[in-house]
Amino acid sequence: MNDVRAKRIASFIEPLRVEPGSKVRLAKDFDPAFKAGVTKKREGRELLRAGVELLAEYQRRLAAEKTHGVLLCLQALDAGGKDGTIRHVMSGVNPQGVKVSSFKVPSAEELDHDYLWRYACRLPARGEIGIFNRSHYEEVLVVRVHPENLDRQHLPGASVGKDMWARRYREINDWERYLTDNGFAVVKLFLNLSWEQQRARFLKRIDVPERNWKFSAADIRERSFWKDYQHAFSEMLSATSKPWAPWYVIPADRKWFARLCAGAVLAHTLMELDPQYPRVSDEARDELRKARAELEAEEKPPTTAGGSRRA
Ligand code: AMP
Ligand code: MG
Repeated sequence: MNDVRAKRIASFIEPLRVEPGSKVRLAKDFDPAFKAGVTKKREGRELLRAGVELLAEYQRRLAAEKTHGVLLCLQALDAGGKDGTIRHVMSGVNPQGVKVSSFKVPSAEELDHDYLWRYACRLPARGEIGIFNRSHYEEVLVVRVHPENLDRQHLPGASVGKDMWARRYREINDWERYLTDNGFAVVKLFLNLSWEQQRARFLKRIDVPERNWKFSAADIRERSFWKDYQHAFSEMLSATSKPWAPWYVIPADRKWFARLCAGAVLAHTLMELDPQYPRVSDEARDELRKARAELEAEEKPPTTAGGSRRA
């Protein structure tokens, strides 16, 4: 049964995976409105509910086993749906086992370190699922689209120049390889939103008072760099989708479908890790038996030497 479910999830997410070594042209290769075989929102929501239960079960096993960790990296353009995806996909999971980190414009202290430092500081421990709401990929996205960010990074002259993006891709690939070799799965999701849908979501953020706080003038400025971002995303996806940490391009125009896909990729990763509850040794089992016998033999609660103070 589990095997059938695992196969179904694997084939569902297959078209979303960026084939390692392939050259991605985002606008041509991935449709933000794609919805696989799931055509109805209600059906999608039911599937997500089942997925959320599955994730909760696997997360319990991951936490008990304490051998592997999972790092989920979420990238998107503004209004791509990162926050909602985290809220929905993780809704059934024990909050103690999940650590969400959001990355904004780097602080002075962060800029005083190498560019991966602040991300390394927030990595999940064994047994945990770490979620990066924006991630180290900003270092080859916003920093590439707005190179003035580089001026603030205090880099030596030799590490800035024409080949610097190829070098950063390699450094990121090596870092992720190191993490996966050490038991941490790296899951990378790009929520792929269309130009039209971003406009619709911005208008909603402007028109609905409860959503005003989500909108900033900077969002419109960033939108004017749409083409540059599409190019930066395409290059980044081509260079950093690796067998040990492939990218998944999630069609993000329908929120319910994006959440379903994100849940499916995470479930697939956990099923591949297949964490197990630790088995106790024969010795420990003897201890458990003894403790059980003691508990069964108990008659009444112990009284303190002086008896109750109230008496
Ligand atoms: P938000 O996620 O909407 O709160 O915005 C966070 C902002 O921080 C976005 O505009 C990002 O582009 C920006 N940001 C995130 N990481 C970096 C970085 N490494 N360098 C410069 N800006 C960044
Ligand atoms: Mg924003």
